[in-house]
Parts: sequence; structure tokens; C-alpha cells
Amino acid sequence: MQYFEIGVWTVLGLIAGSFVNVCLDRLPLQFADEEQRSSLLASAELSAFLKKHLRERTLSLAIPARSFCFSCGHQLNWFENIPVLSYLLSRGHCRKCNAAIGAGTILTETVHALVYSGCGWFLNGWIWPLTFSINFSFLWILGHCWSFKRTRKMLFFAGAVLLILNLGVYYY
Ligand SMILES: [Zn+2]
Repeated sequence: MQYFEIGVWTVLGLIAGSFVNVCLDRLPLQFADEEQRSSLLASAELSAFLKKHLRERTLSLAIPARSFCFSCGHQLNWFENIPVLSYLLSRGHCRKCNAAIGAGTILTETVHALVYSGCGWFLNGWIWPLTFSINFSFLWILGHCWSFKRTRKMLFFAGAVLLILNLGVYYY
């Protein structure tokens, strides 16, 4: 295994970790059931900006396409969106409104970088490391969204598709 390949797996892990963070932030809101929606709308913790999204149902995994601050809605520039590095440079705060960005963000990205590069290191070829890594990302999302019933249900469907893909790889 070359250093170059480990580098590639690390970068892949960082990119995957960023995507997983988007899932963790958005899926529970996108698939919130009525009970959860009303409790979120009444909670003081959710920013006015997010409440507007929730009320108008305008937030999903894909929309808005660009990442934004969950407190003020500030759209992140490319340099504010680099996994791990941006978090460290801004000391975990939004550059516009100074709201704290949870440490979970950098934890997810770091763990993904480690797991992806670890799979690339220990497993042969690229199909198995990729399969293991994607399964890991899925389980990470499922674990974090477990308490959101409707999101969990949607994830079970995604999990079923992933299981079929796993079997495909296994019998390939
Ligand atoms: Zn902000």
C-alpha cells in the first residue's frame, strides 16, 4: 500500500464525513413527523431561520445545495466548507454570526477519515474497503438518527438497498 493510496482514502473519508454531517443535520428535520415538527417549532433552541425552513418544508438533503449555518443561514464559501480544516480555522464558530458549530461535526469527519483510510490499509483492492466504509457511514447515520422515528424508517429502506448492494459485492 502506497502513501498516495492512503492519502486518497483519507480524502475520501473526509468527503464522506462531510456528507454524513449534512445527513445528520438535515434528515431529522426533513422527515420530522407532525409531533416532532410542532415540538421543534416551539423549541427555543431551533433558530428562526430553521423554523422558517421547517414551516415551509423547504429543507431536504439536496436543497439548499450549499451548506449553511444553522443559526443565521449564512451560506458557506468553499473555504468554510473544507472538512476538519475549516472547523479548526474558525475555532468551531460561524464566521458570520459566531454561533458554535457542534464538535460532533469535526468528530464525524475525523472518524470517517480514520475508518476509510484504515479500510484502505487493511483490505485488498478497492471494492471491499469501499463497501465496508459505506456500511460504516450508514451505521453512523442510523445510530445518530435512531431516536427520530420517521427518519429511522426511511433509513431502514436505504439500509435494505445497501444490503442488496453488499450481497452483490459478496457474490460478484
Ligand atoms: Zn451563522
